Amino acid sequence: MDCIFCKIIAGEIPSAKVYEDELCFAFRDINPQAPTHILIVPKEHIASADGISGENSKYVSAIFEAIPKFAAAEGLTTGYRVITNCGEDACQTVKHLHFHLMGGKKLPENMG
Ligand code: 5GP
Ligand code: ZN
Repeated sequence: MDCIFCKIIAGEIPSAKVYEDELCFAFRDINPQAPTHILIVPKEHIASADGISGENSKYVSAIFEAIPKFAAAEGLTTGYRVITNCGEDACQTVKHLHFHLMGGKKLPENMG
């Protein structure tokens, strides 16, 4: 499958890895929109939030359990934002489910 994030997980494309366990993989966004901008992805290819189901929700649970640990490690004591873009209207560009963890500055109030 020609998926850039699957290739990053496999180590075929280099990334600034933050964390990895059996279910999830986290790395720094190549084009950060905030001082901390980490992408957290499931190790199984799920195309978007639309593909989350009872069969694969353990990946999503693992990601959300890891997020507070990343936030603490990054010193995001005054808050942070977690978003996922799903589909065309949300401008999802990489078709492998990913959650953006952003913080380290006051983020814009308006999200569209
Ligand atoms: P989306 O728009 O799909 O929600 O976000 C995709 C994100 O992946 C973007 O923020 C983009 O900067 C990031 N990205 C795309 N290609 C790469 C890459 O090869 N390496 C890394 N680290 N980030 C990438
Ligand atoms: Zn993938």
